[in-house]
Amino acid sequence: MKYISTRGQAPALQFEEVLLTGLASDGGLYVPESLPHYSIDEIASWSELTYSELAYKVVQPFVDGAIPDADLKQLIDETYAGFDHDAVAPLKQLGHNEWVMELFHGPTLAFKDFALQLLGRLLDFILQRNNKRVAIVGATSGDTGSAAIEGCRRCDNVDIYIMHPHNRVSDVQRKQMTTVIGDNIHNLAIEGNFDDCQQMVKACFADQSFLGGERSLVAVNSINWARIMSQIVYYFHAALSLGGPHRPVSFSVPTGNFGDIFAGYLAKQMGLPIAQLVVATNKNDILHRCISNNDYSKQTLDHTLSPSMDIMVSSNFERLLFDMYDRDGAAVSNLIERFASGSAELDQAAWQRVSEHFDSFSVDDDVTCATIAEVFESTEELLDPHTAIGVKAARECNRDTSIPMVTLATAHPVKFPEAVLKAGCEEPKLPHHMADLFEREERFQVVANDINAVKAIITSS
Ligand SMILES: *Cc1c(COP(=O)(O)O)cnc(C)c1O
Repeated sequence: MKYISTRGQAPALQFEEVLLTGLASDGGLYVPESLPHYSIDEIASWSELTYSELAYKVVQPFVDGAIPDADLKQLIDETYAGFDHDAVAPLKQLGHNEWVMELFHGPTLAFKDFALQLLGRLLDFILQRNNKRVAIVGATSGDTGSAAIEGCRRCDNVDIYIMHPHNRVSDVQRKQMTTVIGDNIHNLAIEGNFDDCQQMVKACFADQSFLGGERSLVAVNSINWARIMSQIVYYFHAALSLGGPHRPVSFSVPTGNFGDIFAGYLAKQMGLPIAQLVVATNKNDILHRCISNNDYSKQTLDHTLSPSMDIMVSSNFERLLFDMYDRDGAAVSNLIERFASGSAELDQAAWQRVSEHFDSFSVDDDVTCATIAEVFESTEELLDPHTAIGVKAARECNRDTSIPMVTLATAHPVKFPEAVLKAGCEEPKLPHHMADLFEREERFQVVANDINAVKAIITSS
């Protein structure tokens, strides 16, 4: 399988190369040249598979021999054996045809483990085979950093540099990153905000000459195709668990960078009957404004109780736009340029298609907390604030209550105690395997908000 850039200028790459890069050289994102498509009967034949068997079915055509099938199968088995729930992604019922799929049973208690636990193993396999070394440079407002560190800590050929804004991530999130001790793990607490961290990551990728040619950089945010690929699996898993594919299922997805919900869109393109895809945002609602009103204007960043969705623009939205513009890379380039100079509208035909595929809703902090409280009262399920936004959006957007509606529960509530307490619920306890998190030794360095300081650390370690 070949991968092509959303801007149409960069060379097509194979899976292995796509795994080992970040953005395409023309500034675009890589997508598969074509998707596998499955009939209802084929999908139905997967209904007895375990999560990891299903993951192999879904992922194998994308890897397409870059890793021998038997090895790939083993890597996938190991990945999901490390989750601490036998169902890997259990579904819980909240009400009539109303479900949440818990995606927080991985090592860092957020859905990003589904992709990054596998990504780390894929990287390790390929780098060892090629006897190559890479550096992961990433920025995090919390969940990505810990999932990337947990996913790649045992990769001998990977050095990990994760920047987080100093004093601006929650204690649980910081400890999850900084208590993983290893010579290849470098936590940089930047004296700036999350945007500053992200800018520095971009600057590192834009000019890699400071590395002296010894290592190349690998991206671990959702611009990396392997992350999206791994997330397609659980849409099939949910549908198969709820009577699909002979009946349709709908999904509501708490969304920031549009990675997770884009995987749902791909599942639908691959043949899974999905009735509705609901984009759930917090007050940072660029996606909701775009989908409901064709308004893709950038607005100032709001800090909310659901920080993992605090974004101004969604990088993966470009992958969707590529399809909505009939895979015309020149049209996408042109659109992105117009966005940069202040324009904020999609072509009417493209916007029409976006709004046919997606519903959307935006939820503020007060309603987030009210939803946590209400769901806890009626079901004793304690939702994290991101998931609460998903549940609220699902209720608002549901067009057919005879179809199961599944909200992706993207994080364990223990990671976001502020929202839980504001909702009037008791602070949840850390799961067994992290009960001693607050006693563990932390290791991180405070670094000036200065790209040269960051580059100096990367080159010297
Ligand atoms: C990363 C994250 C999201 C947003 O996912 P995207 O793929 O960026 O849309 C939502 N909830 C939680 C808890 C997250 O960590």
